[in-house]
Order: sequence, then C-alpha cells, then structure tokens
Amino acid sequence: MKAVQYREIGAAPQVVSVPDPEPGPGQVLLRVDAAGVCHSDIAVMSWPAESFPYGLPLTLGHEGAGTVAALGAGVTGLAEGDPVAVYAPQGCGRCPKCAQGKENYCLRAAELGIFPPGLGAPGAMAEYLLIDDARHLLPLQGLDPVTSVPLTDAGLTPYHAIKRSLPKLTPGTTAVVIGVGGLGHVAVQLLRALTPSRVIALDVAEDKLALARAVGAHETVVSDEHAADRVRELTGGQGAEAVFDFVGAQPTVAAAGAVAAVEADVSVVGLGGGALPVGIGTTAFDVAVAAPYWGSRGELGEVLQLARDGAVEVHVETFGLDEAPLAYERLHAGKINGRAVVLP
Ligand code: NAD
Ligand code: ZN
Ligand code: ZN
Repeated sequence: MKAVQYREIGAAPQVVSVPDPEPGPGQVLLRVDAAGVCHSDIAVMSWPAESFPYGLPLTLGHEGAGTVAALGAGVTGLAEGDPVAVYAPQGCGRCPKCAQGKENYCLRAAELGIFPPGLGAPGAMAEYLLIDDARHLLPLQGLDPVTSVPLTDAGLTPYHAIKRSLPKLTPGTTAVVIGVGGLGHVAVQLLRALTPSRVIALDVAEDKLALARAVGAHETVVSDEHAADRVRELTGGQGAEAVFDFVGAQPTVAAAGAVAAVEADVSVVGLGGGALPVGIGTTAFDVAVAAPYWGSRGELGEVLQLARDGAVEVHVETFGLDEAPLAYERLHAGKINGRAVVLP
C-alpha cells in the first residue's frame, strides 16, 4: 500500500510503498478514508536526531477515519464496512486514568511502549491502518469522514481544554482564542456552542481572522505587540476569563498572561515552546495556567455528537495521498484555511 512517511531527520515526508498490514488477534484493519494534517507533525519533523523519540521511518497521520476492512481473531462489536473515527491518544486501558477513558493521560503508556498512530506507531496517512483495540474506534453514525476526521484532534483537543473552563465562562465573560488554524477555528465554534461568552480571536493573518468571524468570533484582533492592550480595551480593562493559546510561542503565552482576568484560566495548547510564569504581580490574582494534551475517549464521543447536532463544522481543504507532502508544505507556510485533510 501507499503511505506518507517521515523517513529522515529534517527531510520532507515522502509517499512510499510499504507492505499491507494484516490484523493479528484483537486488532482491527481500517481502510483509511481520511487523515488530518496537524501542525504537531511539523513540530515532530523539526526535532533533532538526539531528542527524536520515535523510530524511523514513521508513517504520519494521528487524525484518522475509515471503514473496517478486516477483524483480527476475537474482535467483537464491529463488522466489516463499519465507518469509524480513530481515538488516537491510546493508553494501556487499565491504569486509573485509562479506567476513566483518559487514555491521553495514561500512566503506563511510556513504560509499555504504547504510541499513538502517527506519533510513534504507523499512522493514518496510508491506505490501511492497523488499530490495536476496537475500543479506540468510535462509530461515525452518519458523519462524513472527510469533514469529521479533524474532530479527533483539532476538535477533541480544544474541547478538552474548553471543558475545564466552562464553569468560568458564565454570561458577561470573555474567552480569547489565540491562533485560528485547525484547532483554533474549531475552538471558536465550541465556545459559541457551549458558552454565552464573548469570543475574541487573535491571529497574525487576515484570512484567518476572516475565518474566525465566519465561524462565530465576536471580535478579531491582529496578534501583534498591541494585541494584549486591544483585548484589555475590548473587555473594559478586565481581561478575559479564559484564554486558549493554540500557538504557545513566547509572545503568545506572554499575551495570554497579560489578558488573563482575575481568576482566569489560561490553557497553553500550542507546542511553540513558550513558558508563562505565574506569580503575585506577574499575573492577575488566582490565574491558573494549564498545558492540556488531547482529550479523553468520552470527550471524543461528545465532540462527534456536537458535529452531528450541527454545532461545529470543520473547514477542510482536501489533498490526495500523493499530495500529502504539499499539504504539509502549505500548512508550514500558513496557507491552509481550517484543516488540511488527506484522502488516501
Ligand atoms: P495551524 O497551523 O492550523 O494553526 C496555527 C494558527 O496560528 C495559524 O492560523 C497561524 O496563522 C496562527 N499563528 C501563528 N503565529 C501566531 C501568533 N504569533 N499569534 C497568533 N496566531 C498565530 O496549527 P494547528 O494544527 O491548529 O495546531 C496548533 C498548535 O497546537 C500547534 O502548535 C500544534 O502542535 C498544537 N497541538 C497541540 C495539541 C495538544 O494536545 N496540546 C494537539 C494538537 C495540536
Ligand atoms: Zn495533532
Ligand atoms: Zn493507562
């Protein structure tokens, strides 16, 4: 089969031919219908050899949706032809976090060598994808795989971050979204669907700000050195009760801290490497900063349901499997509006 692989540190991904996988006992083979292109892959492909945590070559793609093609021995509850979405932040299934469905926070994944597809294990950017356990597959139930595959990360990750802050997002409050790309444009919609808050979106690119307005942001602000002042101004000097930073670079985490109101939540989701110091006199009183990672299995089910209900709609740009390297190039250059999705 064809697969999109990162093969050599620092080199662009390549479309190659690899053996078709076959499901062993307990495993499920998917015919991949759609695979999302995440900015985290660009971060992964920028890591130096010394700190690269995965084996190479690595088949990319940690957002996957497909059709069950074959079942390994002993698999029940699924049938060939079932359309499914992949829950990729897989854990051991047994530790206290996994028992709650929070496999993204599995306490034993590292020790057991469990990696998500596309982030250590062979990923979804291929014609077929092997899944180790049927519990990692959620039924699409009528959702289009192409527009819903980004929900498995670009939807789930902001949903998990926003859910934590829902108690703070009461009427009259403000939520700030920094970076209106794949994750950010879903975050704006989730905030509109789940909260009565005013949503202010920040980005460096005018077309991304236009997308933010199109998907429901009340205000948009150019993300420059004046952005924090502008957000303070728009909130009558109070700042925002929740800030979601989908860039995570030093200037954006600094802006996130500067606009955080008293008792605000700041979630740093982006892998930009910035750090936000919290302290009396540094941030407003009682500001809480978190660095969330992906989301739980249950939360993925909730995000998919929001899409079925029409509360979120991912804007996608599609690419053939052979064009996947181009999709990464365009994402790197900031030229994707919404999410790029590869159709193997
Ligand atoms: P993306 O490229 O689709 O979107 C990033 C957006 O940020 C773009 O619209 C870009 O114009 C904007 N941007 C860049 N610099 C900015 C700045 N200084 N101020 C404001 N906006 C700026 O990326 P994505 O796939 O949505 O991923 C977003 C980030 O989240 C990445 O860092 C990714 O690695 C990370 N991520 C984290 C998790 C997690 O679990 N923590 C999960 C998925 C992705
Ligand atoms: Zn991702
Ligand atoms: Zn576990």
